[in-house]
Amino acid sequence: MDPSKQCLICVPLTAKTVKKMLFQLELAKESGADVAELRVDLISGFDAAADLPVLLKDKPLPVIVTPRAKWEGGEYKGSEESRQDILRMAYDLGADYIDVELKVAGGFIQELRSRGKDSTTKIIVSNHNWDFTPSDEEIHATIEQMWATGGDIVKYVTTAQDITDVAQVFHFLSESKGPTIGLAMGPAGMISRLLAPKFGGYLTFGALCKGQESAPGQPTVQDLIEVYRVKSMDRDTMVYGVIGKPVYHSKGPVLHNKGFEELNLNKVYVPLLVDDFNKFMNVFNRPDFHGFSVTIPYKEDALKLCDRVENAAKIIGAVNTVVRETTGEYQGYNTDCEGALSAIEKGLRHSGLANNDETPLKGKLFVVIGAGGAGKALAYGAKERHARVVVANRNYERAKALAESVGGKAIELDQLSDFRPETGMILANSTSIGMEPEVTRSPIHKDALSAYALVFDAVYTPKQTQLLKDAAEMGAVTVSGEEMFYGQAFAQFRYFTDLPAPESAMRDVISKPAAAKKGKLRAPVSAQCSIGTYSRGRMISTRLGFDKLLQRGLYPNSAQFGMLMDKSQVQLVNLAFRC
Ligand code: NAP
Repeated sequence: MDPSKQCLICVPLTAKTVKKMLFQLELAKESGADVAELRVDLISGFDAAADLPVLLKDKPLPVIVTPRAKWEGGEYKGSEESRQDILRMAYDLGADYIDVELKVAGGFIQELRSRGKDSTTKIIVSNHNWDFTPSDEEIHATIEQMWATGGDIVKYVTTAQDITDVAQVFHFLSESKGPTIGLAMGPAGMISRLLAPKFGGYLTFGALCKGQESAPGQPTVQDLIEVYRVKSMDRDTMVYGVIGKPVYHSKGPVLHNKGFEELNLNKVYVPLLVDDFNKFMNVFNRPDFHGFSVTIPYKEDALKLCDRVENAAKIIGAVNTVVRETTGEYQGYNTDCEGALSAIEKGLRHSGLANNDETPLKGKLFVVIGAGGAGKALAYGAKERHARVVVANRNYERAKALAESVGGKAIELDQLSDFRPETGMILANSTSIGMEPEVTRSPIHKDALSAYALVFDAVYTPKQTQLLKDAAEMGAVTVSGEEMFYGQAFAQFRYFTDLPAPESAMRDVISKPAAAKKGKLRAPVSAQCSIGTYSRGRMISTRLGFDKLLQRGLYPNSAQFGMLMDKSQVQLVNLAFRC
């Protein structure tokens, strides 16, 4: 990729004092960002004449100076005249960029240029809509006004009320006639930040760490670089994602992106917070949005929307994987079934309960607790593998319907603890009983577990549920829901890429995140600095290159150095140290 066209990663610095902002600037450099935005309106008692030269001297990164006006969503408390003086001063001192709001940009830029002073400072003309995303026509008209001010870069920021609003942002970025920053704020706008490089965005913002965001919906720099690999993203990058509501807790992006990285594929997997499934699928039905994982509450909607659905998914009544064909048609699959059943079969084989050459579940009594989406997948998969299926569910009618559909038997949930027709049975919990926060609950009495050879729990938070702990104590082989999670994701990966998932790398990124990241932090490490007692008495050491700050006399001793950090910064320093 042409480096001059690469989308820059900018960290907005939100510190309340100049010293803390200088510290953040060093951290921003270490984090791998390309630019830092100095939000000087957030510094209390900011004195431009005294503070700007300090901030701009020997800066480790190019900076944008932004004294954001209150009327544009910022916090600058002084007069408009003094605010514009900050911008003039930053321009004269050679800041790399200054950010001027559209409302005042016309006159201000003309005046700056008419002074005839040479400056390398680039002027960003910005416009923020904190409520919604206007129509394409309105956006286009505003952007034309912004270019007419004579600025060098246009920054148009909207608020996404729905993820489909982001399509408009992608549209104006793709059509831009000069360097353009385009973002949609809010949780629904997240993909505008993650995919900005793909659509030609000049820059995208990433917070230094969680808690340091300057706008709603901002990812961290670390996520942008390490999870979403925005530095290697380009217009040809194929997009995949997990559709759900909620969705930001999903481990899918970390898992699938690791797989793409491992196989060197120009693909990215993003979280898609969707309010209206059909609307999303229609608006983003485009060749570069190629595949989706579908989670709660849209698995049935996905089944209805797909043009073609594999038989198993039809019978289960849920689609959790959608692939867009080149014709624009959607093909649906269910990998929950494959994920759960292969995990159970593997558990049987590894524990010597089945030989490699036989169908391990054939003839076994397979008890499913629950009759929802996961229950249906388990019951269907067990029947396909020639097990005898029994379904127990709180709502007995649902248990009966499911049992009938797989030629099995239904029992009441409260019969389960006395249900011991034989030994060596398989038990699979597909209810949410035992899931965080109710981690001490189990769907079945411990004593009843002696009749089971293997117990599987679809719940994977926590990994070791009460049911699995009880089962292990009663001598059963246990299989965690995490195995189902991996299994369904690996099967999805194959549908997305036609390649086998690099399983061990993908597992490691979830189970050993620190080890997986090892060596990735770009710390030049020029000084070792022990920082004094801070954050509940823990001693923190860091190898970050803070010597520059120390040389400047900003942090004359370690105790003071520690005092200057926020809790979130301490986390970042700890992270840097771990890596
Ligand atoms: P679902 O369609 O909503 O079904 C929920 C099932 O749990 C229903 O049978 C429901 O019974 C039962 N249930 C819920 N609360 C209960 C309670 N307090 N007491 C007794 N029964 C209760 O949900 P789902 O998609 O099947 O998911 C179920 C569980 O599986 C969740 O914990 C989910 O996280 C997990 N899961 C894990 C994976 C994985 O990869 N490991 C994948 C999918 C799902 P009623 O019919 O009586 O309402």
